[in-house]
Amino acid sequence: MKNVRERLEYLKRYKMTIEVKEELDRALETMTDEELEDFSKEFRKHRHTTKDRKEIEWYPTIDRERCVSCKLCYDFCPKSVYSFMDEMVKVTNPYECVLMCSHCTTLCPECAISFPKDEDFIDYIEYR
Ligand code: SF4
Ligand code: SF4
Repeated sequence: MKNVRERLEYLKRYKMTIEVKEELDRALETMTDEELEDFSKEFRKHRHTTKDRKEIEWYPTIDRERCVSCKLCYDFCPKSVYSFMDEMVKVTNPYECVLMCSHCTTLCPECAISFPKDEDFIDYIEYR
């Protein structure tokens, strides 16, 4: 798990206006880690997708051969991307998935969850 400084540095790979980049650099230079946690939450307001989320095919795919319906992904996902029906976990709200996040893959004991390559989606996020 990255610390708050690493998480904020990581955001610099996305497109950013000069003003937003300067705001980020200033915070990283002058704030304590505790202050940066609050800053990080506020900073999210700058994040936008470059086109309608429903036109961006970023969401998990479950390998049915591997999945054992343990429900870990279903229980974890804060966006209710998954549903449990007919004794199976299914992706029923794909466009609720947080763009460029793939946290649930790390939880799956069967390595049954996959996402597209993130480098193909990096241009769909911008900070302005
Ligand atoms: S990446 Fe996050 S939002 Fe997307 S399905 Fe997994 S847990 Fe849910
Ligand atoms: S965590 Fe993996 S094995 Fe468990 S329900 Fe989700 S996809 Fe299936």
